Amino acid sequence: MDFEAEIKNIETNEETLDPIDWNGLKKLGIQMIEDMLVYLEHIRDRSVWKPIPKDIKDFFDKPLPQKPEGPEETYSDFVKYVQHAPGNIHPRFWGWIIGTGTPFGMLAEMLAAGMNPNVGGGDHTAIYVEKQVINWFKDIMGFSTTASGLLVSGGSMANLVGLTVARNQKAGFNVRELGVNSSPLPMTFYGSVEMHSSIQKAIELLGLGNNALKQIPVNDNFQIDIDLLKTQISEDRDNGYLPLCIIGNAGTVNTGAFDDLNSLAGICSEEDMWFHVDGAFGALAILSSKMKWIVSGMSKADSLAFDLHKWMYMPYEVGCVLVKNEEDHRRAFSLTPDYLEPTTRGFAGGKTWFSDYGIQLSRGFRALKVWMGIKEHGIHKYGRLIQQNIDQAQYLVDLIKSTSELELLAPVPLNIVCFRYFSDRLTDSSLNDLNKELLLRLHESGVAIPSYTTLNGRYALRVAITNHRSKRKDFDILIENVIKISRELLQSSMA
Ligand SMILES: *Cc1c(COP(=O)(O)O)cnc(C)c1O
Repeated sequence: MDFEAEIKNIETNEETLDPIDWNGLKKLGIQMIEDMLVYLEHIRDRSVWKPIPKDIKDFFDKPLPQKPEGPEETYSDFVKYVQHAPGNIHPRFWGWIIGTGTPFGMLAEMLAAGMNPNVGGGDHTAIYVEKQVINWFKDIMGFSTTASGLLVSGGSMANLVGLTVARNQKAGFNVRELGVNSSPLPMTFYGSVEMHSSIQKAIELLGLGNNALKQIPVNDNFQIDIDLLKTQISEDRDNGYLPLCIIGNAGTVNTGAFDDLNSLAGICSEEDMWFHVDGAFGALAILSSKMKWIVSGMSKADSLAFDLHKWMYMPYEVGCVLVKNEEDHRRAFSLTPDYLEPTTRGFAGGKTWFSDYGIQLSRGFRALKVWMGIKEHGIHKYGRLIQQNIDQAQYLVDLIKSTSELELLAPVPLNIVCFRYFSDRLTDSSLNDLNKELLLRLHESGVAIPSYTTLNGRYALRVAITNHRSKRKDFDILIENVIKISRELLQSSMA
């Protein structure tokens, strides 16, 4: 290198993370998209899950890279070590309540990451996309156009946001200024024993303590017992507590039960309490013309939490919270230091600052995958898929009922089926042991992934269907394997 060129090199030696070889990255990028779409196209041919071998686990213990490994080698490590087994994107994954995502959703995520806007605030199009998505969901959920909303990481965060607004609105004093310790009366929240754990976490984070969350027993359909709820509220009032909020379940995590939301709304208005609904997945039943009766009363909620990464099949993460009164919502979160004061014109001139409606300041463009996904298929397709999952649950119920060795353990109002292998020669305790082992072997076989729960002391296999890839034959395969494994287990225990 001659002297002049060397000087020039030093002068221009400013670095960037952009590629030196744009054409090389374009080629690799196209390859990555192609590979992933092929993987998704043939996802059914793979095992749902397989144990992670030692060499892969060890790979993740490697030290911090000091030298560049380059895009090609890094991608090849992804293929070799990260992309191990499909898990929740497989047609026979039905554990917990986990969504699948979509190929177009994946591409939308890539575009969102490419634009990489900060959707906390400002006047740029991503803000308008999120506003439109929220408006669509106000419409879908029967909320008025004056309601407000926010896209969040998921149901847990949506519950936390809704319950924060509830606490601040109904406490009767300025909680933001004075803190919960200044409460003249201890605040109490109510919901059924079937409430999701994220509600308890929210109550703990709100500084109220888990004792402030009164868990009311349920009836045989796993719905909150309304009489017991009323008694508890009136006793608490007599004893100097401040009953502040009722949390209604629109689809419980264990069995998919819906509380009587109309009755809960009525109690809230009589008692001047806040009505929050956790509709993480169940709220979306509103999209099914056959099933939307089940969410009756949901739109009376003061705040509603639901997920889009579960029963809207969107890629992780995205959930939504709606609040009936925009001012209530803002009052709980709005905080505008000088450096965030909107301007009258320019980039900072936008009217909507989403940071005024939640905890996050910097926020990703999670709205884009929702916006593109709904435009791609139209909303009716989602309604049909949700109904398809509900019909598949009934198909599975029929399979279970027509098999004498299987027992249904809870009513199936929606898309969750809890059942077990049953033999009248075994005690409940041996049945629990057998079904636990059955579940583990089913997972290890890679054939299907249900999860599990315990209902009235009985260990249950739990199939929660929020999967647009499942077909009826997948449930035949599940039952065949459940019977096969259970019989093997029974034989070996008698041997
Ligand atoms: C999944 C779920 C939640 C929590 O939602 P995340 O998206 O996992 O944070 C809350 N409530 C119910 C009923 C759920 O099923």
